[in-house]
Amino acid sequence: MSEPVLTLHEIIKVYNQSLPNAVNVLRGVNLSVDKGEIVALVAPSGAGKSTLLHIAGLLDNADDGVVTLAGQNMTNESDRRRTAARRSDLGFIYQFHHLLPEFTALENIVLPQLSAGVSRLNAEKYAHDLLVRVGMGRRADHRPAALSGGEQQRVAFCRALANGPSLLLADEPTGNLDPETSDQVFDILLELVRGTGLAALIATHNLSLAARMDRTLTLKNGQLL
Ligand code: ADP
Repeated sequence: MSEPVLTLHEIIKVYNQSLPNAVNVLRGVNLSVDKGEIVALVAPSGAGKSTLLHIAGLLDNADDGVVTLAGQNMTNESDRRRTAARRSDLGFIYQFHHLLPEFTALENIVLPQLSAGVSRLNAEKYAHDLLVRVGMGRRADHRPAALSGGEQQRVAFCRALANGPSLLLADEPTGNLDPETSDQVFDILLELVRGTGLAALIATHNLSLAARMDRTLTLKNGQLL
């Protein structure tokens, strides 16, 4: 039987709780993502997708509810444990690539591995393998400014996977690209994720991209349908 990599149980998040303009963003969110499963999180802008991803990614705390990652209840863990779990278990992709401009594509994927204690030789080898998988093997020595938007994002995918996370969290990963490039780059992302067998929760408001994933969850009125 497959085991959940991520579970959220009755997650509640309210912004400006004690103020008259309180925003009840998440009103009891329950979800479970299994190993090897790619789940689409669909909602219009402002519905709370980023809030949910930040809570799942241990970047923010819920006001109530339980977050379990790789079988461990992370809800009341110390900041140190949450940071360690974030580094070892989670990969993040955002709408913008956030690559370090002064480093090459390869170095951007090597650096997180060096921080995790991998030797330079092994880190470079793995970074190169990842770049080849996304069709960027020949651009390894280029800096981000010399790459197109779609190429930059492909490098960002590799960086997110550099430390072998068990869960990938992505917030509109191709939202910054023109529709045709977005389509192509999204296919590359899905192939990469399926090839590594990790679990993924990918927010998008593009229903045709969502349809290519294993399952779609819709966030409406603070709850998942
Ligand atoms: P999405 O990612 O779906 O666009 P967000 O999670 O960014 O939605 O935001 C959901 C709602 O919460 C929005 O109404 C937004 O204005 C509000 N919100 C987000 N962050 C904050 C914050 N730090 N303080 C107050 N309100 C916030």
